[in-house]
Amino acid sequence: MPAQEYSAILSIMNRRAFGARFLGAALVPFALPQAPPLSDLRVEGRRVNDSLRRLSTFGRNSQGGVDRVAYSEADLAGRAFATGLMKEAGLSVSTDPAGNIIGKRAGSDPSRRSLMAGSHIDSVPQGGNFDGDVGSMSAIEVARTLHEAGVVLQHPLEVVIFANEEGGQTGARAMSGRLSSEDLDRVSSSGKTLREGIGFIGGDVTRLAEARRSSDEITSYLELHIEQGPVLDSEGISIGVVEGIVGIHRWMVTIEGFANHAGTTPMNARRDALLSAAWFIKRVNEEITAAPGRQVGTVGWIEAEPGAPNVIPGKVRLTLEMRDLDWDKIDGIFGRLKQASDEIGESNDTKFSFEEIYDNPPRLTDPRLQQRIESASQLLGLSSKAMPSGAGHDAQSLSHIVPVGMIFVPSRDGISHSAEEFTTESDVTNGANVLLQTILSLDRSPIGT
Ligand SMILES: [Zn+2]
Repeated sequence: MPAQEYSAILSIMNRRAFGARFLGAALVPFALPQAPPLSDLRVEGRRVNDSLRRLSTFGRNSQGGVDRVAYSEADLAGRAFATGLMKEAGLSVSTDPAGNIIGKRAGSDPSRRSLMAGSHIDSVPQGGNFDGDVGSMSAIEVARTLHEAGVVLQHPLEVVIFANEEGGQTGARAMSGRLSSEDLDRVSSSGKTLREGIGFIGGDVTRLAEARRSSDEITSYLELHIEQGPVLDSEGISIGVVEGIVGIHRWMVTIEGFANHAGTTPMNARRDALLSAAWFIKRVNEEITAAPGRQVGTVGWIEAEPGAPNVIPGKVRLTLEMRDLDWDKIDGIFGRLKQASDEIGESNDTKFSFEEIYDNPPRLTDPRLQQRIESASQLLGLSSKAMPSGAGHDAQSLSHIVPVGMIFVPSRDGISHSAEEFTTESDVTNGANVLLQTILSLDRSPIGT
């Protein structure tokens, strides 16, 4: 028996809440107590859902959602609540200079790097009660479950509540060394600048560099989150194994024609920029859907000049956005769209030009962590599916410094950033158990060994 398994079993024998959350332990009342395997350990579902309900009271609005934007009074109150829960879970809690709340649990082997898990509790204005909260409350619940069962991991465990995720992953970016001093002057949804906000929640911008962490200290980061899309809910699947966070590429497309009289200019003599735009928009949809895969593309904004009922539009500007995990594929589709724009331009005697306005490449999760999450789901008898994340997450920033893994649970009807956001209690509990079992698996055999 490997030494680490032996020590894990010894610690199980010493645990305080013997058998309470080990499946099957109560089924053999007259047998001598035997250490159940850690694979039978489960979180307390009622408690993690209760934590979510209690958290939802901080910043609650009249629609039943929350206004708990980062650096607000409600955020401060929610953070105090989370800190209290962390302490109850036996974690030593501190706030780093970026305002991230970090709860640490020592491991048995001081030479090991930390297993990190967490999410965020700040919301968008008029947000819901699950985005970020599920992963945050579940990571604390996992720590509490280990604490109460007396399980000592080999690795230190760090539970992190990241600051200001919804305002641009401020805390996570500081931890990965990607927060610039210009960023600090940006005004957040709270009305405070990031600089003021970080101070307000107990951080210290003069020591921001100390918030930076690296793979020298952290072995991996795991984040449980609601899907925020309809796939798991509509397909009846319990767990999403996130393959990565899609990249976003945006262009400003300008189409030049000629503004002329809408009554006197014959149809065959027009240089109608809006007509070209219409053809182009249709082509965007066709090219995106023709390629295999799950890429998405959108023309979300358009402006025609001069914008009068009796003038042929002489100039149009529109945005083109594409998202996918595969950047080469997006490049390929963009190439075909540019070619199409030449043909359309020629047909209508108009001219297209493209300016790149935003380029945020995809961040992939670690395949070894995907595999552990998948195995944990199987162990728990839960259906799972590999999928991309269409929304950004703290894991995206952390992926610049450590391998990351993400677990999704279903969002009812795919609704998010709304008071209607909802995930069932059993889905929350399932997600927390997958997080627990993935952490136990990584502690038993770390990735890369
Ligand atoms: Zn979130």
